[in-house]
Amino acid sequence: REAKHYLGVADDLKLSVNAIEVLKKRYLKRDEFGNVVETPGEMFERVASAVSAVERRYEGDADDARKKFLSMMRSLSFLPNSPTLMNAGLPLGQLSACFVVPVEDSIAGIFDALKYMALIHQSGGGTGFSFSRLRPKGDVVRSTGGIASGPVSFMRIFDAATDVIKQGGRRRGANMGILRVDHPDITEFIACKDRGGMDNFNISVAITEEFMRQCERDGSVELINPRTGEATGEMSARDLMVMMATYAWRRGDPGVVFIDRINALHPVPGIIEATNPCGEQPLLPFESCNLGSVNLSRMVERGEISWDRLEETVRLAVRFLDDVIDANRFPLKQIEDATLRTRKIGLGVMGFAEMLIQLGVSYASQDALRIAEELMAFITKTAREESCALGRERGSFPLFEESSLKKWDAMRNATVTTIAPTGTISIIAGTSSGIEPLFAVSFVRHVLEGARLIESSPLFERMASERGIMTPALRAEVARRGSIQEIPGIPDDIKELFLTALDISPEQHVRIQAAFQKHTDNAVSKTVNLPEKASVSDVIKVYRLAYELGCKGITVYRYGSREQVLYLGEPD
Ligand code: UDP
Repeated sequence: REAKHYLGVADDLKLSVNAIEVLKKRYLKRDEFGNVVETPGEMFERVASAVSAVERRYEGDADDARKKFLSMMRSLSFLPNSPTLMNAGLPLGQLSACFVVPVEDSIAGIFDALKYMALIHQSGGGTGFSFSRLRPKGDVVRSTGGIASGPVSFMRIFDAATDVIKQGGRRRGANMGILRVDHPDITEFIACKDRGGMDNFNISVAITEEFMRQCERDGSVELINPRTGEATGEMSARDLMVMMATYAWRRGDPGVVFIDRINALHPVPGIIEATNPCGEQPLLPFESCNLGSVNLSRMVERGEISWDRLEETVRLAVRFLDDVIDANRFPLKQIEDATLRTRKIGLGVMGFAEMLIQLGVSYASQDALRIAEELMAFITKTAREESCALGRERGSFPLFEESSLKKWDAMRNATVTTIAPTGTISIIAGTSSGIEPLFAVSFVRHVLEGARLIESSPLFERMASERGIMTPALRAEVARRGSIQEIPGIPDDIKELFLTALDISPEQHVRIQAAFQKHTDNAVSKTVNLPEKASVSDVIKVYRLAYELGCKGITVYRYGSREQVLYLGEPD
């Protein structure tokens, strides 16, 4: 459905009703009375002007860049992450989605981190923290002679503060809380959502290589007090694994990050302890990163991938994201310094599922895995070449000489690719999110403030109409069920193309994630959907497979296991 003039917003770009609804609510510029004062097209103009303006510093052709950036966004071939769309060219000017803030083991350190979190949320960014440096519950507090309350008690303060700040912000503040698997409070951490609260946190256990080894041989992990470096006890690695899987089975939390692998593959010096809220962007303390995604559904011509168009889009997107670093107004000096040392950017994709449908390839097939690898290898290679060219022109990132990238003659950005969830920008672009399969052929989306959006796949509508099977009764049935697999009268080849998240095996979900991870510098956001009847040992199998295939982390979600954002079929 296209909207010419909808919800009081002139639509100059033929966006979907859902896209306009989202843009109007939170993205379009407002005057001091709260009235929306720009169209979606003008929003892209604002972003293109603000971002391209920094090219003057490098004696680049800013006007040429502005035109190209504008056309890339207007055609929905590429969109930057939400804060760039919301804030570019406006007084706030904070353009990044991802931040990691270190938490020191002291009251002053903890409350500094809390304040930094508040400032970042206010500006539209999401924050990740490792609480692993905090001394465990019951440990001594020397200055007072008291007893420490442990990482989980402090996380609750971060959660409560997030609730308060979100009232004033444009975007719900999101957090990632991480604890190492060998922290003495690990079991309390895994179970921390049982007591309620913590709704503003995704939690993940940082799993070490040692832990995976001990799991294999049914050994134990030593629990280490980070204050003293001494072991306080030990736990069976398998018991811990079962506990994590059980909680994940019950409620989707915790996720897992393979922290040693992340560090081993990280190209610059420094130790990574945490990722951003959705897990796709591991960062050093105080680093931030801006993301952007190529819309793959716009990269298909006559049933084939247009590699030329993809290459052109990737090169321009890298330049755009590098410009964003300079156009950015950072919320803190420490963040600015850390970010400018590495100049990380995270180019990714959205609309992968729709691309596969356009290519006539089933998401559940070997071909889908092959295409995923081929695509991402091409995108990262092209992005790196472009970053190298920018490095020659504008200078390499300051830590280049100390990085594993120094085999190149120059490099502007320490990392170039990340696969984001694209939760909102995929709605704006009107395509499937990130690398996820269709959630449903038709579904109801619950958005902020209880609003419900009904979405059905335009590709399905078109294909079913072309085959002459589309009737009002069928449309109603698809909306009711979400999946088309059990609906009689739909040809098998259409059923194979329109598989939904739950029609796909957990193993294939992991394999798709791994195929993209193989050629992604940072990490990959992906949910491994499990059917309601899956068992805890199915969850453990997913963890094992993700580890074997080289993933940097993994998140499972069992259908119906907690309140969710997306529902299959019509609401009751
Ligand atoms: N994020 C956030 N709050 C939100 C959604 C996202 O802070 O409500 C941050 C978080 O760091 C997440 C990143 O933005 O990992 C990218 O999320 P996504 O791709 O869904 O964002 P979009 O650009 O589509 O809004």
